[in-house]
Amino acid sequence: MRVLLVEDDDAIAEPLVAGLRRDGFDVHRVRTAHDALAADPGDFVLLDLGLPDGDGADVCRSLRARSGVPIIVITARGDEIDRVVLLELGADDYVVKPFGFRELVARIRAVARRASPRTDAGAPLRVGPLEVDRRTRRATLAGTELVLTPKEFDLLAHLTAEPDAVHTRQSILEAVWDPHWYGPTKTLDVHVASLRKKLGDPRWIETVRGVGFRLREPG
Ligand code: CA
Repeated sequence: MRVLLVEDDDAIAEPLVAGLRRDGFDVHRVRTAHDALAADPGDFVLLDLGLPDGDGADVCRSLRARSGVPIIVITARGDEIDRVVLLELGADDYVVKPFGFRELVARIRAVARRASPRTDAGAPLRVGPLEVDRRTRRATLAGTELVLTPKEFDLLAHLTAEPDAVHTRQSILEAVWDPHWYGPTKTLDVHVASLRKKLGDPRWIETVRGVGFRLREPG
């Protein structure tokens, strides 16, 4: 697996590069926001938010706008970073410095595992006029493409795979996000609200009070 590490601090980057290489990762390290955006993101990005020439959050947004590459954000303790904002930027997970190397590798593997079904996802899912193609990661409603963030797509695909079934909050969070996220309830609600807006009818995603959500054709 090719990993792009964006980190200006040698004291963090050097042992990380050595450890990841020992574990069989092919690591390319850059120090600045400029170099991060110029580099090949490879299969995975580890992104420090505090960069000398710019905000890592902007790098995250730019990478996400042009690629589905999984991104784990590295934040410093005390960074006033709202987890929901990180998700909205397109990050898949985050770690807070100082973090354990084993913990980080476990996160990388978990995020990579969730990302990999994107490439071999089978036939498009259909519910009435809604079509979700996990192979191309495109969703259309009555033939019109829905413009979705990666997480909105994953959430819609997850619900559409089993229409009419009630999906518990916990099962959705485990399938679509990482169970390590804290404050996840708000995150999920933010994404559901945004999907409802994009689907044009809130009845597509029904709230099952105290349990979770269910997708079905309105009417
Ligand atoms: Ca830094």
